[in-house]
Amino acid sequence: MAGPIGDRLIRVDMTAGNVSIDPYPEDWTLLGGRALSARILLEECDPGCDPLGPDNVLVLAPGVLAGTAAPTSGRLSVGGKSPLTNGIKEANVGGNPGQDLMKLGYRGIVVKGQPADPERRYALEVTADSARLVPADAHKGKWNYPLIEDLSQEYSKTTSFISIGPAGELRLTGASVACTDHEQDRHPARHAGRGGLGAVMGSKGLKYVSVDAEKRPVRKPAKTKEFYALGKKYTKTYLDGPAKEPFPKWGTSAIVAEADTLYTFPYKNRVEGRSPDVETLDGMRIVESFETRGGGMHNCMTGCIVKCSNIVHDADGKYKTSALEFETLTLLGSNCAIASWEDVADLDRLCDELGLDTIETGAAIAIYMDSGGLEFGDAEGAKRILREVAEGTELGRAIGDGAVAIGRKTGHHRVPAVKGQAIPAWDPRPLKAAGVTYCTSPMGADHTAGLVVEPGQPYEEAVRASQESQILNAVCDSSGFCQFLMPNLDEIREFFGHFLGEQVSREQIADLGWRCLEDEWEFNRRAGFGPDDDLMPECMKQDAIGPAKLVWDLDPALVARAYERFEPRDELFESRPS
Ligand code: SF4
Repeated sequence: MAGPIGDRLIRVDMTAGNVSIDPYPEDWTLLGGRALSARILLEECDPGCDPLGPDNVLVLAPGVLAGTAAPTSGRLSVGGKSPLTNGIKEANVGGNPGQDLMKLGYRGIVVKGQPADPERRYALEVTADSARLVPADAHKGKWNYPLIEDLSQEYSKTTSFISIGPAGELRLTGASVACTDHEQDRHPARHAGRGGLGAVMGSKGLKYVSVDAEKRPVRKPAKTKEFYALGKKYTKTYLDGPAKEPFPKWGTSAIVAEADTLYTFPYKNRVEGRSPDVETLDGMRIVESFETRGGGMHNCMTGCIVKCSNIVHDADGKYKTSALEFETLTLLGSNCAIASWEDVADLDRLCDELGLDTIETGAAIAIYMDSGGLEFGDAEGAKRILREVAEGTELGRAIGDGAVAIGRKTGHHRVPAVKGQAIPAWDPRPLKAAGVTYCTSPMGADHTAGLVVEPGQPYEEAVRASQESQILNAVCDSSGFCQFLMPNLDEIREFFGHFLGEQVSREQIADLGWRCLEDEWEFNRRAGFGPDDDLMPECMKQDAIGPAKLVWDLDPALVARAYERFEPRDELFESRPS
């Protein structure tokens, strides 16, 4: 299958300071985003390497359909060996860099090596005709928002940015990679949060990447008429259907109340499944604030029809943060017994400024509180600790290194993490299929790897549902579509077919997802992962929640069946994820 002529791959050697622009391999045409990152890492990165050393490989790969007119399809995958899990990692992010790279025909950026001087900072400048490394020492240590404000003066209005904050520069393993949203102010509010890939970017001395797509048009599909007709039909169906529901109309923060009733709104380091603060943390309070303070819903990248991202203003009507999501309200809110959404908005802004994953950081603060280091509910104390992250104090570093690191430092017994990564809001005790994903996904505890919100499933069905969700999400994160659009496999393969000019079968699209998972599992096997890495932590087996006394009680042998491919069911292709 031949892709669009002229596609290219940018390769950067940080040791030598070289950049090359190579033709994109034809046999990688169907690969993009997560699947492309997995293939490159398996073929070009030593799985046994030090994740923060010169042998790790950082991959920035837009999905196959990024830069096209397909709705909500410009997501970017950030990949590498994770310093948090020590396994392979892909973190998927919105904003405009994915769209812009693909409009220029760049299918990915592969960064290897490490500068000899760890104090130096560099930037990669990408334009239609060139990619070059330039010194960026003047931006060393800058927080993400001031960094982007300064860069906005230096670069054209059509430039988008991928950056790290101080946490990435300090190589903290909870560090994120920020992408700017598409609006005029270009807020660095979109984060590839999970797995500490900001620390990998920091270890390469790369402070930011600029991508100037000028006013390039969208990519041209092979079957133009069919592609645009499909896009129109899909958009109409979407806008007549899911778009009218509370989510995505009001974003993930509007799920809080429902999650609480399902016992998946964890409280006080997950000792409870529901929070007494559900009313004040409910995202609908944010929605209500739009009327008096301004803000509202927007799309984080061009072409997104979902617009799930909230823009949050303070009491004076000034911009504070955006995309204050369910996960953040849970981990930095209820899980720390912080009751006010406004405090969580402050913490979210601090995390975005420093370049920290809000899930990992919230889990780490909750463990610190649970260990007696800080009172549960102490919002000001939490903000103070986050400022310490930037200062690089011992406590700040331990929080910035995530849940397991602060557990180790405090000697606390309750550390809800799988494969070294904090469990997200969606709780494995009521949601068994999500738990199977946390145990078997190459990504560790990551809901975006395969979330199924269906309490009460028979356990065998939960294993199968997890596998199907893992396949679907692997394909989605390779396509460029945002998971919040909730496309199914048949829809994705139809878009692929019209874009590439050749029909893509059900078998091919399901194989794409499975092969991606196999590449990632194989990377982890070579990195030394085994069955012991698939175990849920003791606290999930012992701390019962809700009247049904829910605990994690799946037999590891049953969980491991997620590694054996089930016969694909029609639902795999036809249903949207729950
Ligand atoms: S659905 Fe939400 S997260 Fe996804 S691209 Fe659109 S605004 Fe961004």
